[in-house]
Amino acid sequence: MRFASLGSGSHGNGTLIDDGETCVLVDLGFTVKEAERRLKRLGKTPADIDAILVTHEHGDHVHGVAPFARKHKRAVYMTPGTYVERKMGVVPDMKQINCHKPFLIGTLSIEPVAVPHDAKEPCQYVVSSNGFNVGVLTDLGHITAHVVQQYADCHGLLLECNHDTQMLEQGPYPYPLKQRVGGDHGHLNNNQAAELLQKINLGGLRHLVMSHISEKNNSPELAEKALLGVLEEWTGTLYTADQELGFDWIDLTV
Ligand SMILES: [Zn+2]
Ligand SMILES: [Zn+2]
Repeated sequence: MRFASLGSGSHGNGTLIDDGETCVLVDLGFTVKEAERRLKRLGKTPADIDAILVTHEHGDHVHGVAPFARKHKRAVYMTPGTYVERKMGVVPDMKQINCHKPFLIGTLSIEPVAVPHDAKEPCQYVVSSNGFNVGVLTDLGHITAHVVQQYADCHGLLLECNHDTQMLEQGPYPYPLKQRVGGDHGHLNNNQAAELLQKINLGGLRHLVMSHISEKNNSPELAEKALLGVLEEWTGTLYTADQELGFDWIDLTV
């Protein structure tokens, strides 16, 4: 079981999860051409992707989904509320999911998790195979009890560290956007990400990736500082997901 990223941030997201038999892509916020280029960098072709899982309809997560699905004839999974054809475009092989009901794609078990975010029917995903759980958790305004429960036992976790509260407050965003990003249905700040880590089982967590880091309202250094404050006893590895480079394959089995 391993996972990698095509890129992470407000300009585009895409996470690959692969157990050697089945490979899914969570979100695709890049153009088809750009996605093909980034997949190649990770040793994958579009034909290797068994399906695309969509978290919510914001452009940085769906920009390339429908065009990629049409060109490469891939299945796409999302909640009914997430899909608006007029905005997203035609998706020929659409699988509607219930965000409270687990399902299978090939050898992967998929657990959707409803999250508080300013989208129609957003969910994030925990993907499992062979006893390993990979959690993707970005784009949520606060940590709910449901989120804590569903992400309690991840071996790999891609966790949003969107902003530093002080940088957001003093930064260049107009006031309404500051309110949105920092609000209960916006994005996780560094301290909220740290708060989640205090509530889950860190013993099993071997690989933690700081992701969806804002270029204007945060820095990898500030995010790391906040997380390390609650990771004193932790012996796993901490990574940063980059907008341009994402991150290379992280293997959970080693
Ligand atoms: Zn986003
Ligand atoms: Zn979003």
